[in-house]
Amino acid sequence: MKLNIKDKFNTLLPADPILGDSRRQVEQACFSYVTPKPTAKPELLHVAPEMLNTLGLSEADVKSDAFLNVITGNAVLEGTKPYAMCYGGHQFGNWAGQLGDGRAINLCEVEHNAKNWALQLKGAGETPYSRSADGLAVLRSSVREYLCSEAMYHLGVPTTRALSLALSGDEVLRDMLYDGNAAYEKGAIVCRVAASFLRFGNYQIFAARQDTATLKTLVDYTINQHFSHLGTPSKATYIAFMKTVSERTLDMIVHWQRVGFVHGVMNTDNMSILGLTIDYGPYGWLEGYDEGWTPNTTDRQHKRYRYGNQPNMGLWNLLQLANALYPLVEEAEPLEAILNAYKTDFDRASLHMKRSKLGLELEVAEDSALIAELEAVLQLIETDMTLFFRTLSAFNPEESTDGLATVQNAFYNPEALKATVKIAWENWFKAYAARLKKETATFEERQQRMCAVNPKYVLRNYMAQRAIDAAEQGDSSLIDELFQMLKKPYDEQPEYEKWYAKRPDWARHKVGCSMLSCSS
Ligand code: AMP
Ligand code: MG
Repeated sequence: MKLNIKDKFNTLLPADPILGDSRRQVEQACFSYVTPKPTAKPELLHVAPEMLNTLGLSEADVKSDAFLNVITGNAVLEGTKPYAMCYGGHQFGNWAGQLGDGRAINLCEVEHNAKNWALQLKGAGETPYSRSADGLAVLRSSVREYLCSEAMYHLGVPTTRALSLALSGDEVLRDMLYDGNAAYEKGAIVCRVAASFLRFGNYQIFAARQDTATLKTLVDYTINQHFSHLGTPSKATYIAFMKTVSERTLDMIVHWQRVGFVHGVMNTDNMSILGLTIDYGPYGWLEGYDEGWTPNTTDRQHKRYRYGNQPNMGLWNLLQLANALYPLVEEAEPLEAILNAYKTDFDRASLHMKRSKLGLELEVAEDSALIAELEAVLQLIETDMTLFFRTLSAFNPEESTDGLATVQNAFYNPEALKATVKIAWENWFKAYAARLKKETATFEERQQRMCAVNPKYVLRNYMAQRAIDAAEQGDSSLIDELFQMLKKPYDEQPEYEKWYAKRPDWARHKVGCSMLSCSS
């Protein structure tokens, strides 16, 4: 296995002088050297062929022992020095101090086709940042991260990627629902890949400690390595950096809203500085369209990270990043201007995105009202978001004005579609049909455009759970089936039609399907 190793993070930034994984506060350093933990019986479950190519590897490499050993932490590549990053973060609105890579170990950086990629193992053992936990990950959460990050990529959502999914052969103790019923689960390791795994929290930790020197070192490094188009680091560049991060975060969240993805834990340590979706934990996909929905049971009370609140939480997190960068800028006004722009830019981008979901190309003033009315009727009775928008693309008022018949399959209980609810829907379709008359595109053109932004296949929570249940029994074929299908989420793929369906009733209240916890 030959990788073109080009380590930068751990060669250009200050290291923690202490070695080993003893828990400690790490100051004036961006990372600590660590060694992945050998595992009992590593076994490869799946590998992503595109990522192999991206990194300059081949299928033949996958067959080597070296590959399996490296992606499970049983061997360290020659010339590399694995490390865990130091970061802090706001968790559920409260400053939590130092967090850091507690169960992630960065292996190395690889340059291929003029791009730089960081490789990171999730679940490869303890680090100085593991606090009271074990640094390990279980099969269920690893399958979820592996499948979802690749699915998001193919949906066109900025995200970290995944190279491989492997069993460690070790048993890991988890209290999945935090109810005192801990049980052993299969341990697993995902090797994930991104241009960088830096988070807002990496900057916050130095600002919180008033360590402006290390903060500046890290920000300058980030700009030089990942935002070099902004120019040489200076006060103006720091402001441009903040602006770019804000724009990328906005773009990412607009995509989340488009596809119905709910991250579940938008803490500042889970916000990528590159605007990538990162740290797939108790995330979920909207089934019934419900702006108040969160998959995360830990957040059930306040629903801070509910679907409809993700745009606001993006802004809240950006405010924390702006606070962290303030010591380098020493002027509030330009940072405030960026945050204010987020609000108006978000509304504009969101309106554009929602128009596209409805197949509307022209900008008509009444569209905001039409969309707001749709969002209200969508929540009158349980209506599947993915099915609704996909079937809506087949609505052709030239042929039939019965929109309800077109989208009927999206209703979980069509019986409930009576009286006032039915009238509300009929009114909405009347308005929509009238609005479509203003468009110049043909029905076929519109349908094609709508199908390019409204996916047919998403990783519904129960689908991931079925793949997990089978994998627990030693059958990883469903992981592969979903992996293949999710590569083309906008294509019809009739061979996978059975996955183009509402959530089955058994999954409504099942753990892992509708209820997820941070325990992974
Ligand atoms: P999360 O909210 O899941 O992204 O995790 C928050 C913090 O807890 C991060 O610093 C993680 O590295 C750490 N963490 C979560 N699970 C574990 C674990 N099993 N072992 C060690 N650290 C963990
Ligand atoms: Mg995290």
